Amino acid sequence: MNSQSFDSLQIELCPVCDKPSQPPFQPFCSSRCKLTDLGNWFGEVYRVPVEEPENLPEEESE
Ligand SMILES: [Zn+2]
Repeated sequence: MNSQSFDSLQIELCPVCDKPSQPPFQPFCSSRCKLTDLGNWFGEVYRVPVEEPENLPEEESE
């Protein structure tokens, strides 16, 4: 009845490239995809629009 344990094995797909994820990098397939996803996250975070008035005087150093 050990075969039943295989049913609980779920293959997750890498959210970045849709390849089967690899245990060391779950839920990603590789460290590269993990970093890619992290990069996307930070990209989103930093892309949060900050409302800055555009009529700030441009101060050029010098
Ligand atoms: Zn991937």
